[in-house]
Amino acid sequence: MLWERLGPDDQRVRCNLCAHRCVIPPGRLGVCRVRENIDGTLYTLVYGRVISENVDPIEKKPLFHFQPGSHSFSIATAGCNFRCAFCQNWEISQLPREQGDVPGRPATPAQVVQAARRAGCSSISYTYTEPTIYAEYALDTARQAQPLGLRNVFVSNGYMTQELLRLMSGLIDGINVDLKAGRGEFYRRLSGAALAPVLANLSTILQLGIWLEVTTLVIPGLNDSDDELRWVGRYLFDELGPDVPWHISRFYPQYHMTDTPPTPTSTLERAWRIGRDVGLRYVYVGNVPGHDTESTRCPACGTTVIHRYGYHTQVVALRKGACARCGASIAGVDMP
Ligand code: SF4
Repeated sequence: MLWERLGPDDQRVRCNLCAHRCVIPPGRLGVCRVRENIDGTLYTLVYGRVISENVDPIEKKPLFHFQPGSHSFSIATAGCNFRCAFCQNWEISQLPREQGDVPGRPATPAQVVQAARRAGCSSISYTYTEPTIYAEYALDTARQAQPLGLRNVFVSNGYMTQELLRLMSGLIDGINVDLKAGRGEFYRRLSGAALAPVLANLSTILQLGIWLEVTTLVIPGLNDSDDELRWVGRYLFDELGPDVPWHISRFYPQYHMTDTPPTPTSTLERAWRIGRDVGLRYVYVGNVPGHDTESTRCPACGTTVIHRYGYHTQVVALRKGACARCGASIAGVDMP
């Protein structure tokens, strides 16, 4: 999907699935290591090859305003188009890069949909690694899931092309995008990517009517300054509006960053305050089970409308997507 030959007598191809737009000579792979040019045709190596599969609370994605309290059948293939030094899932996302192979259990889209229904899930999430790099598989699965009433969710670094986003429109109902920092230099140095395409995609996702939540993993010493957090919070408010939920997530030492300590709770709380100060209505501290800010409060009267403790979610004061106390609307998808 979304590739082209460079010319009639040229065996090189350009992949237009993500913003890297790799130009790949015959016999070579793209940056993600899971798309290969074989004799002038670009092939995906991960279609129908599941590396991870779980039934997760939708809150784990995290999506807090999307079918709250439901379960999402969650799958991934190996591979990623980023190579974040701090990746929390590097064992599967960086597998093709680290080991040079693409393992996975065979599963057709129909089998994934069947398994999701058997497990009583309300949605299928394409998650853990980067779904952009297995977009053909994800969208084929979404096409089969949708008529059966299952919603479809991407958890993504937001680096897909706008062409892919348009193909996702109408099939993918919700996305959580990582906005990792407010500086291009961070993206270049730590993820091997650029910031601008991610920012452009955030706006397009909203324009396409796909539900959007944003996550920022706050890493001590890298993106935890007041200035940077305020830039991110302001950007979300100014460009996307006050209703986009912002998840401020705690870093744990992983992959190439085992020497960096976990994010102190006080830093996450500082970021939370910044998000609220710039005007965002829904700001959550993540990866700190039991934290006071996990619950959703009505932005008008402050009533707790959805109570959370870790992944235990209880809808306590919502009526048809509005606060049961004051009637103010609470943004989201399939809100009770
Ligand atoms: S999906 Fe892979 S091959 Fe295609 S542009 Fe992105 S990194 Fe390159």
